[in-house]
Amino acid sequence: MLNIKNLKVQIEDQTILEGLSLEIKKGEVHAVMGPNGVGKSTLAKVISAHPDYKVTNGEITYKNKNLLELDVAKRALEGIFLAFQNPIEIAGVNNMYFLKQALNAKRIYHGLEEITSIDFLKLVKTKTKELGITADVFKRDLNAGFSGGEKKQNEMLQMSILEPELFLLDEIDSGLDVDALKSVALGVNSMLNNERSVLLITHHQHLLKYIKPDFVHILYDGKIIQSGGIELAKEIETNGYTRMKDSRSVS
Ligand code: ADP
Ligand code: MG
Repeated sequence: MLNIKNLKVQIEDQTILEGLSLEIKKGEVHAVMGPNGVGKSTLAKVISAHPDYKVTNGEITYKNKNLLELDVAKRALEGIFLAFQNPIEIAGVNNMYFLKQALNAKRIYHGLEEITSIDFLKLVKTKTKELGITADVFKRDLNAGFSGGEKKQNEMLQMSILEPELFLLDEIDSGLDVDALKSVALGVNSMLNNERSVLLITHHQHLLKYIKPDFVHILYDGKIIQSGGIELAKEIETNGYTRMKDSRSVS
């Protein structure tokens, strides 16, 4: 699904990622953990083609295509979805209209007919019911005045309607209380199958109780310094990132 080799990324002349490699196969859930400011969001934004981030070296292959040659729209149409750490508010853009346009763009790209307004509303009703969320808030402008939890629910609604193949989930746990976190995690789990892959970014192992990763990677100093299973996340909980990094450079 996704193969990143020796990726170097800069923002405004500052190097953030320095030789990061990561391979995610179809159906796999990979958690990337690391302290604040280490470049986790940078990684997610680079994969989804954020214009501020310059790739200065390395390659990214997605479904056997050179991802770096695809623009942001093409990446989305090809099945990449980024759930933002901080979803932005866009007053004046109706949330439902936005979502319907996004879905129709995808349907046209894949040779399908546009969905009608009636069918779209039915779809939203089914999806919100499945996700256990109330639809009224989503009729407002895009994220405008949404609470933290509602913003995350809106990201979930977008995912469930757009049906991505690669989910980039950037700290979907941030700002959520435990009940909201459980419901978001349940929603994500219900969307996963062996055709879909997940890059799950978090700095707490708490989220990993609810969304179980197949692999855990530690991002530090611009690269993945360690990879393993869920036990790595537990080790971080006990030792913290700095001690893990130090013990690794000694051994
Ligand atoms: P994380 O998600 O791991 O907390 P980020 O990827 O958001 O880290 O940030 C990595 C580093 O890049 C930080 O030092 C941050 O200040 C810097 N950075 C991120 N975005 C920008 C930007 N748009 N302009 C300048 N610096 C940025
Ligand atoms: Mg971040």
